[in-house]
Amino acid sequence: MILILLGAPGAGKGTQAENLVKQFNLQHLSTGDLLRSAVADGTELGKTAREYMDAGKLLPDDIILGIIKDYMQQNRDSGLLFDGFPRTVAQAEGLSELLEGRDVQALSIKVDDNAVIKRLSARRSCRNCGKVYNPVLGIMPAGANCECGGEIYQRDDDRAETIAKRLEVYHELTEPVIDFYRAMGKLLEADGSGTPVEVFEGIREVLV
Ligand code: AMP
Repeated sequence: MILILLGAPGAGKGTQAENLVKQFNLQHLSTGDLLRSAVADGTELGKTAREYMDAGKLLPDDIILGIIKDYMQQNRDSGLLFDGFPRTVAQAEGLSELLEGRDVQALSIKVDDNAVIKRLSARRSCRNCGKVYNPVLGIMPAGANCECGGEIYQRDDDRAETIAKRLEVYHELTEPVIDFYRAMGKLLEADGSGTPVEVFEGIREVLV
């Protein structure tokens, strides 16, 4: 199965991705995580990515599709979960070409803009493993650091000025991807407004 998680920033894609990969034995591919590690490693991709990410903008489609193509050529996983990709209709069309007839299922997690703003402003992440903590959702670290020992920090793009831009980009460029999969008859939808446990229950109901 190829599962595509769709939803606004802060909808809970990362948190639910953790649940889904365990439950369905999928390989997790988050383009955001991948770009953040390129930034941390100071690679050429990371230097380019940082400019777009800090501005709340999307990286060009050809860069993202190149990353996905390389990954899929090197990893022939039977089950894959995409988190944060595709984010534009051009990326969705590019993915359809790469899939060579493999079956795909899109799952949209729905939350309203006010909840997104509240969640993203409160969100903190681990610099080492990427785990997300959020007091608004009751997900707190046991101590000052992440459970892996890493430093907990606020992502630059989770600051108020950038959140507004990311939401604008989401409505303009990523929402049409939901319609793309709906038109293909490949869209499932789940309510993302509850606690992570409630949201996962809703997801399991629509997925089985
Ligand atoms: P995320 O962690 O998924 O919210 O992604 C953080 C940032 O990485 C986004 O705001 C974009 O700047 C960039 N990014 C992640 N995935 C993509 C993608 N599929 N296409 C373009 N830019 C992306």
